[in-house]
Amino acid sequence: MQRLNDRQAEAVKYIDTPLLVLAGAGSGKTSVITTKIAYLIQQCGISAKNIVAVTFTNKAAREMKERVGKLVKGKASSGLTVSTFHNLGLNIIRREYKILGYKPGFSIFDQQDARSLITDLMQRDASADDNGVDQIQHCISNWKNDLIIPAQALEMARQPWEQTAAIVYEHYNRMLKAYNSVDFDDLIMKPVELFRNYPEVQQRWQDKVHYMLVDEYQDTNGAQYELVKRLVGDRRKLTVVGDDDQSIYAWRGAKPENLAQLKEDYPSLKVIKLEQNYRSTSRILKAANTLIANNPHVFEKTLWSEMGVGDEIRVIKCRNDEMECERIATEILAHKLRHENSYKDYAVLYRGNFQSRLLELKLQHHGIPYHINGGTSFFARAEVKDIMAYLRLLINQDDDNAFLRVVNTPKREIGPSTLEKLGNYANKHHISMYRACEEAALEEDLAPQYAEKLRRFTGWMDDVSRRLQTSEDPMQVVREMIADTDYENWLMQHSSTPAQAEKRMANVWFLVDALQQTLERGDEDRTVEDAIARLILRDMLERNEEEEDADRVQLLTLHASKGLEYPHVYMMGMEEELLPHRTSIEEDNIEEERRLTYVGITRARKSLTMTLAGQRKQFGEIIDTMPSRFLDELPQEDLVYTGFDESSRQETKKMAGKMGLDALYKSIGA
Ligand code: ATP
Ligand code: MG
Repeated sequence: MQRLNDRQAEAVKYIDTPLLVLAGAGSGKTSVITTKIAYLIQQCGISAKNIVAVTFTNKAAREMKERVGKLVKGKASSGLTVSTFHNLGLNIIRREYKILGYKPGFSIFDQQDARSLITDLMQRDASADDNGVDQIQHCISNWKNDLIIPAQALEMARQPWEQTAAIVYEHYNRMLKAYNSVDFDDLIMKPVELFRNYPEVQQRWQDKVHYMLVDEYQDTNGAQYELVKRLVGDRRKLTVVGDDDQSIYAWRGAKPENLAQLKEDYPSLKVIKLEQNYRSTSRILKAANTLIANNPHVFEKTLWSEMGVGDEIRVIKCRNDEMECERIATEILAHKLRHENSYKDYAVLYRGNFQSRLLELKLQHHGIPYHINGGTSFFARAEVKDIMAYLRLLINQDDDNAFLRVVNTPKREIGPSTLEKLGNYANKHHISMYRACEEAALEEDLAPQYAEKLRRFTGWMDDVSRRLQTSEDPMQVVREMIADTDYENWLMQHSSTPAQAEKRMANVWFLVDALQQTLERGDEDRTVEDAIARLILRDMLERNEEEEDADRVQLLTLHASKGLEYPHVYMMGMEEELLPHRTSIEEDNIEEERRLTYVGITRARKSLTMTLAGQRKQFGEIIDTMPSRFLDELPQEDLVYTGFDESSRQETKKMAGKMGLDALYKSIGA
């Protein structure tokens, strides 16, 4: 509490009515939440188990718990819930799965799982192409974020493609249910539906939540907004913090107008603004403020800092994308040595995930350790998860999640209603789906030709598992199993290019090799079942390890950088069509890109370096680039340009102009 300024302290102590802390980057919004949790426990006598805080990432949640743990000694902080929206939803579903009609051990479909399910469903429609799949997945996700069920979606659909999407949405939901699975968006939507339909369940949860706090409130979507409202209930014990200038998730249904909506839902809402930034030098802060002043504003905010003037902001233009990455790698190395810093003091931010590949190579080349935040780990790849599921099912037939993952991958013509009926039968008789396939009585619920298809699958799996136990060369059995499924062919049909299919198949063989090595490293009497079990364990361990903080340069997208801070930040790819992104230029949505740039700049504490490439390789073609218009919106007196000639700067200047008003500001009548 001592370290807080007056306004921050006021925000911490204010508990009478709902509170909104509205303030710019680095002003201590997250710090207010952390301190307030401690205050609620120590000064207000609210038990930790009755406090729920929502953060933006798992990492942020862990850090916050740690910090509260330091402020509140002993057991007093145990039972505290600090989690992401998705984890909070998952917890609710875990406790209430029965009412929601799920079996225990339901699984979660990630984006890729969901995409391949949608692809399968759409293959019935010959006109659908890959683009169609993305569009429909996005559309379904938006509906879920707005709590729109398939029937409503169908009613609202005007365009033919929207009608297709609504029908796919219906099938997709039924399949998920048959798979005893939920997707990411369901993690929020299902709890809201539950609370809407079962007031007594809602009451039970409201009784648990005596105080709720939400960070990064500007990025909540419709479903999240309602979830908060329902958890808070009539108690109205709520603190939310946010910054409309950092709203960057419109594409995921985020509604910054939720900030304004609060005043309507809670007329007694108190608003506190913070103005002092404790993170960045004033040069960095001025750059951020100057840039964002180009966006229209509903809420007036000021931001200043006493962290010293700081170094100028460097803008480095390199010949091409390869030189850009080389430059960043060598700069980090030299700077680190000169200043005796740690690698983890450096972060490189970029607009699209693809930009990290070349950078990774360069960092590896220079022996610089790095960590990709939010990248896909080997074990999270769809093809690896598929084969792992086959292996899991081999050693545990009762693993329903594994069963559902592979029963129709590759295609075995087993449809959603077959799986739905199988699931119901298994549920009724309290057996696994695999065993249900083998029961004669199944045919009371399921026509014989469908039961037959299921049995063909389990019969084949039984055979593989028998061979696995008796064979001299179990690894050969595993290879034969993969060949039997014709998985390679299936990958060909489900990858965007042959090269991608090849790469994914290589991942499959890499996994098989890893299994072989595990088997060979084991003791004499170790079986292939043991090796598989150990591989599954390794999968889980590696996932955990990934989260660990080590001394590594951090690579992350601008989106993922929200809420974080680093002493030295590099923003790469400061080019038209990259930042602002091409699709945003086409859709006239420059303001969101400007906010994204604002988020990037305000991550930096001491130094900020922006880089761009004069030429860039794109889809095998070399293209000339243009410097980002945002460079010209920065205070030129605080920039040092390297590698530019004057004409190219003039050109950018011409391009930079005032953009149209963002939909957001229109919608709240500004
Ligand atoms: P963002 O908008 O990026 O999420 P924020 O408003 O949540 O930023 P914090 O991350 O809470 O800001 O704080 C930024 C930095 O300032 C942190 O390093 C924090 O420890 C520090 N800080 C916050 N308040 C104070 C204070 N009163 N005195 C000194 N340091 C502070
Ligand atoms: Mg924050």
